[in-house]
Amino acid sequence: MTTNIEGDSSLPAPGSTERTTLRRIAEKAVENRAVGYQILDAGFVAHVAVSDDSGHPYVVPVGYARDGDRVLFHGSTGSRLFRGLAEGQPTCLTVTLLDGMVLARSTFESSMQYRGVMVLGNCQVLEDAAKDRALEVITEHLLPGRWSEARHPNKKELAATLVLALDLTEMSVKVSAGPPEDEDDDIPRPIWAGVVPLVESFREPVPAPDLIEAYPVPDYVKAWRRPSPGGAH
Ligand SMILES: Cc1cc2nc3c(=O)[nH]c(=O)nc-3n(C[C@H](O)[C@H](O)[C@H](O)COP(=O)(O)OP(=O)(O)OC[C@H]3O[C@@H](n4cnc5c(N)ncnc54)[C@H](O)[C@@H]3O)c2cc1C
Repeated sequence: MTTNIEGDSSLPAPGSTERTTLRRIAEKAVENRAVGYQILDAGFVAHVAVSDDSGHPYVVPVGYARDGDRVLFHGSTGSRLFRGLAEGQPTCLTVTLLDGMVLARSTFESSMQYRGVMVLGNCQVLEDAAKDRALEVITEHLLPGRWSEARHPNKKELAATLVLALDLTEMSVKVSAGPPEDEDDDIPRPIWAGVVPLVESFREPVPAPDLIEAYPVPDYVKAWRRPSPGGAH
């Protein structure tokens, strides 16, 4: 289900619109759309901004998948926050991958290594065949191989599920990599400095307590890996 990593070449480059241009530490901006898509393909959780009726902002974590030049995610039709998105409320979606802790000699210069994408826009509601397909794309991104084994949603479950798409038209990509950048005065200090890399990984599958006895762990479950930076699983 991995889709074209380059994206539609007629779309604006990441960070090229007025409101997506990185101003603070602008050298961390990445204008290459493919880098943004690789980050989206490697992540599992997006944070989506939404306001309630009073205008108060919320940030909702969701599972998602990239599908070409858009991001797909789903929520409950009963959720007032998701209904706001379905009605076309403007939103901001972010995906962040944490790659390491950067220990500078000073706490001020200490930071993190990360790769992040921010998308601005309005969601569209997907219906019928597009909705079915989107649920498959999301499932296959999060759990490759699962769609062919798990029971698919029935009519009642589909009716309770809101599926949304957000175009990747207006987006920015920010990547922080490399060693700590200490002030010259701090470098001679006897303080350890460096990077502690951080990797998110799956551990051994734990069978459900009510699983049919001795039912084996499927190969696709054993094979689960976070997608590589190249986008492949
Ligand atoms: C794991 C992590 C930890 C961080 N910790 C801190 C922290 O402790 N303190 C801190 O000040 N900042 C931190 N940042 C950076 C923070 O996300 C912002 O980039 C930074 O605060 C600048 O925000 P701004 O609105 O002033 O940037 P501006 O450069 O003015 O933002 C302009 C535009 O740049 C884009 N942009 C900004 N930030 C990002 C981003 N992170 N990813 C993608 N696009 C972006 C957006 O389109 C935004 O509209 C962290 C980032 C990550 C991923």
